Amino acid sequence: MTELLSVQNLKTSFMTREGEVESVRGVSFDIQQGEVVGIVGESGSGKSITAKSLLGLIQPPGVIKEGKVLFHGQDLRQMTEPQLRAIRGNQIAMIFQDPMTSLNPVIRVGAQMIEVLRRHQKLDKAGARQRAIEMLREVGIPSPEQRIDQYPHEFSGGMRQRVMIAMALSCKPELLIADEPTTALDVTIQAQILNLMKQLRDATNTSILLITHDLGVVAQVCTRVIVMYGGMIMEEGTVEDIFERPSHPYTQGLLRSIPRVKEGQRERLVSIEGTPPNLLHPPTGCPFMERCPHAMDKCREMPPYFVPEEGHRSLCWLLSSDMQQQKREQEGDEQ
Ligand code: SF4
Repeated sequence: MTELLSVQNLKTSFMTREGEVESVRGVSFDIQQGEVVGIVGESGSGKSITAKSLLGLIQPPGVIKEGKVLFHGQDLRQMTEPQLRAIRGNQIAMIFQDPMTSLNPVIRVGAQMIEVLRRHQKLDKAGARQRAIEMLREVGIPSPEQRIDQYPHEFSGGMRQRVMIAMALSCKPELLIADEPTTALDVTIQAQILNLMKQLRDATNTSILLITHDLGVVAQVCTRVIVMYGGMIMEEGTVEDIFERPSHPYTQGLLRSIPRVKEGQRERLVSIEGTPPNLLHPPTGCPFMERCPHAMDKCREMPPYFVPEEGHRSLCWLLSSDMQQQKREQEGDEQ
């Protein structure tokens, strides 16, 4: 696979009256062509701010303080606003949780799509209209020839989200960033939209970065998962690594809080006790320390990433060779 995006040591803060809130604290990850990567975490973990930072969509008092966002090897952070605008909506598209925040309520859906297509794809009006109709059909909107002339409020929530996806994909982006695209929808529509994204990925080899608080959604569509907490990546691995061999206590806690049906019985849900760290004064040690059942003195110091297996990394001292040795000895004693 070819590397499409490489995010290196990204740091984004918000300058408030109380001081600097360090929302994203040195995040690094890569996305390969055709990959579907999920960023998951509770609200306030920094996942949405990370996504917005990639495209320079941080508004004051927010500021991207450091880091590189390499797209095809070129740093988006060094680009001028017109250069970035040419990439946004064209090579990189974004869809948000609430399509009404991105669709203009007083302009017909078709006119909005045609404008995007004409701007980025240099199509004439008739060609852009034709392409918009094709896209609406592709995302499963019935009678697109008629519906293209309707206003956003004439579509249901699920259909509006489809319109957003059609709009985002109409310019055949290489990367689609989807921030909680299904959170506001009911479960059936959610499944349809996720399936649609998967089909489109298969058909066009578009890479997808999916931001969600829902591990169930990640399991359905992603190939790789990044778990964020306190503005940092706690764990990263394939879907199998994260769901079958989670190594970070935070990931383990998140997994315990997903509803599951086991042998006909519903398992009791265990939510993670406590609250996320205050990023106005972020902890210098492990961000999860206050809530971690395994916390120890050593955790006052920030752990490095340990790699339990290739492509799987975890920010936790429990993975250090000393702790692993101790664990093996304890297990030996118990046998
Ligand atoms: Fe828990 Fe320590 Fe690991 Fe942090 S480093 S997750 S506090 S065991």
